Amino acid sequence: MSKTVTVLGSTGSIGTQTLEVIRHLNCAVQGLSAHRNTALLERQAREFHPRRVVVGDADCYHALKTALADTDIEVAAGPQAVAELAAVPVDIVLNAVVGIAGLEATLAALDAGTPLALANKESLVTAGELVMRRSAETETPILPVDSEHSAIFQCLNGEKRDRINRILLTASGGPFFGRDRAALASVTPEQALRHPNWRMGAKITIDSATLMNKGLELIEAMHLFSVKPEQIEILVHRQSIVHSAVEFCDGAVIAQLGTADMRIPIQYALTWPDRMPGLSRPLSLFEAGALTFERPDPQTFGCLAAAIEAAKRGGLWPCAVNGANEAAVALFLAGKISFLKIGELVWQALSLPLGPWDGSLQQIFATDTAAREMVAAAV
Ligand code: NDP
Ligand code: MG
Repeated sequence: MSKTVTVLGSTGSIGTQTLEVIRHLNCAVQGLSAHRNTALLERQAREFHPRRVVVGDADCYHALKTALADTDIEVAAGPQAVAELAAVPVDIVLNAVVGIAGLEATLAALDAGTPLALANKESLVTAGELVMRRSAETETPILPVDSEHSAIFQCLNGEKRDRINRILLTASGGPFFGRDRAALASVTPEQALRHPNWRMGAKITIDSATLMNKGLELIEAMHLFSVKPEQIEILVHRQSIVHSAVEFCDGAVIAQLGTADMRIPIQYALTWPDRMPGLSRPLSLFEAGALTFERPDPQTFGCLAAAIEAAKRGGLWPCAVNGANEAAVALFLAGKISFLKIGELVWQALSLPLGPWDGSLQQIFATDTAAREMVAAAV
């Protein structure tokens, strides 16, 4: 395939799988970015020969510059440089940065009119209206990489958006589905990092364990597919075979199925509107066995309830719960707070003194900061 691609967050779980797909499709890489992992970024740069590589952390500039001194690859550093890389013309930008740190790159790609393969769900959670408006104004498509949203996107191929009745958003349930609060009280980061079906970065793996991930995905789906939170039903589906489904106004339900392999949605985002032979093993429904669907338990998994409440309130609330969650997950991973405290802190963000959103990016970042400060003050 002759497309040129920039991969932001190329050293992460999605980033490295994207490079596997790119190797397979034989696309040309124009830009790569990481935060601090200069060693892997250097190896990637030597293999894929991008024009420019960027580290988000400015302190890593010299290490990367020195490592690539014998090449003609441009090196830049800092958050602004990541957003500038996203604005360099290419056929598609894939944003696999984790957290709100990916938001400016999302907007930069859209402003440049470059189709955006979006794994960074926090862009849509924190500033979904802004992101979707930029996409519409610049007539630039957003291709979802998140497996559920890729599934929904595929179910909607050729369909009219206003014929959607409901979205059936599936969830693996994470490692602790079925446990009660007492059993969750002593969960360690190591236990929470052991996801049954997917191998992912640390932050999203914790989000999957708390079910915050499904709350973030509900907000992501609202924006991507113009539906209300009430139109999205969450189903715990332990086998991760049905990646989501859409129920239409005539009662027909269309689902997308496949093995639990992120290279499928990544590749679809890169080849869209076409398809190409892929890397994952074919799905055997005989081997998959029974497919089960259960209701989630928002009482036990408080993060999910808080995210749904934020989704219903709209405005700055999703950004607030996201900021509190990012800060709380970092503290949990550092061993500073308990697993259940994450949910408590995310709930607390719903009591921040927030006014209506004026539509600006500044207010989004101010809300994120306020939520992080609230978390820091509470522990
Ligand atoms: P990882 O933590 O594995 O990777 C994150 C990437 O972003 C790394 O390249 C990291 O660089 C870079 N990065 C981290 N912080 C910053 C920053 N402040 N500025 C710039 N770059 C930064 O995450 P995942 O790959 O798991 O997830 C990426 C995104 O995709 C998330 O939004 C996640 O929710 C979403 N997603 C992930 C899925 C998965 O299967 N992993 C599935 C669906 C969605 P470095 O390595 O140097 O730290
Ligand atoms: Mg997902």
